Amino acid sequence: MKQFIDIVSIDQLKEINQSLKSIVEYRKSGLSLNHIVGCPLDCSYCVRHLFGNFEQRVPKALCSDEMAVRSLINHIYFQKDITPIQLFNRATDPMLPKVKKHTHNVLHLLDNLGLKNNVILITRWKVTEDDCKRFNELKNIKLTIFITYSGIEDEKIEPVNSKIASDSLIMLFKNSVNYKVILYWRPIIPGLNDTDEDLLKIKNLTMHAHAVVFSGLFYRDEISDYYKRNNLPELYQKTMRRKILPEYSEKKILNFFRSHNSDSTPFFRKTSCGISFVHKKADYNGHFGINEICDICPKMQVLRCQQKWRKPDNDTILNMCKDLGATSPPIITDKAIIVQGLDEQKRYFLQHTFEYQVHDIDKPHFYKRHGRAETGWITSDEK
Ligand code: SF4
Repeated sequence: MKQFIDIVSIDQLKEINQSLKSIVEYRKSGLSLNHIVGCPLDCSYCVRHLFGNFEQRVPKALCSDEMAVRSLINHIYFQKDITPIQLFNRATDPMLPKVKKHTHNVLHLLDNLGLKNNVILITRWKVTEDDCKRFNELKNIKLTIFITYSGIEDEKIEPVNSKIASDSLIMLFKNSVNYKVILYWRPIIPGLNDTDEDLLKIKNLTMHAHAVVFSGLFYRDEISDYYKRNNLPELYQKTMRRKILPEYSEKKILNFFRSHNSDSTPFFRKTSCGISFVHKKADYNGHFGINEICDICPKMQVLRCQQKWRKPDNDTILNMCKDLGATSPPIITDKAIIVQGLDEQKRYFLQHTFEYQVHDIDKPHFYKRHGRAETGWITSDEK
């Protein structure tokens, strides 16, 4: 039986979207490794629309796992035991039958290097007992598996039945020894999957997770265009650069879980907060500086972040920003380092190095909005 996906030929490679050819990219949650692209699951709001890759349903390999791991650990911003790593989170699902052989292989390759970095998998597909066994064999890396669960029942929007995700969550949690499991409730779309009935379903699932992260929808032009072309109901009137989760929806969710607090599984707004909590570490993205994010966090975890959180030394930041090519000197506030002229990769490299938020001066963050789009937030909050 064939073990791995064939590597694409030079001719096939020409057809792959340019932005997918760079297999390692720095994103907010860390360096993201994506040498397998293509997915048959057809979630209508998938980010693959952004790379013109939505029609590619058969996963293809752009290089071998060994070469991919070498590219990752030789990346200019990779730091041993520090840089968080994400696997197959851009253009495929890591647990698809053919892809998961690569997922297990890459995890074991990283683990065999003795790396202690956080490694994040996000899936909505089937996880078996044998998968859990293989995850439990990992000794060094800190593995966190996010199960994406939306609860959306409209098959045109969400063709994959959410029961697959809930079964995987239960399977993973039951067998967890050397890895952690997070219920990733997303995308929350008001009116579509935030009714009381939906919230009760989520509540019943929380007992099968070490933490819950809840999040909104990326609604970009390419996704909105797909909805228009396919006569799907448009999910928002306007597209946005950041994820959308309106204030009233967040309030409703938090109020519900405050009044049904018999379960102690904590909720987080940020993936890195959930990851840091389940591994008993301070948040590596330094969200503690944006203190209003922490109002739903368990006291023990707040203490952990508080103890570790340090405003970085002025001269060190100044020199690093200059070396990275900043176009003006950084401003270091009690919340974040504000920089100009540094792209995402450089900002996240700084953020993970200092565990302190790094913001672009041209993309301001607003009080209480938690880095989300302005849709559904009142203007008076913009302080
Ligand atoms: S204390 Fe704040 S920064 Fe730390 S994990 Fe909790 S929410 Fe995140």
